[in-house]
Amino acid sequence: MEEPEYADLTCTACGRTAEHELRHVGRLLATTTCTACGHVVEVVPRSMLTGYLHDLEHRVTSKPVRMARRARRDPLRFARELPGALLRQPGKLLAELGTLIRGR
Ligand SMILES: [Zn+2]
Repeated sequence: MEEPEYADLTCTACGRTAEHELRHVGRLLATTTCTACGHVVEVVPRSMLTGYLHDLEHRVTSKPVRMARRARRDPLRFARELPGALLRQPGKLLAELGTLIRGR
């Protein structure tokens, strides 16, 4: 695991817009952890990784302030712009992430 990064996201568990710890496996975003309630989301199937994650990673590392502002201004829209599967199917994603990690 690399050093975590942080970004304000809307938590799917507690509904608050709070700072989330973003953890990566290699170059891939692996989990987000809500610092308000501790809810962990396993992120993103392989099929979504290629362009999207690179772009997200870039934005998270280079524009955290802009991201935080957007999340505060319109948290629902911000949440919709996150990968839909991230919000809907954490269990399935956990399984896929496991496959991904074991395949390395
Ligand atoms: Zn939370």
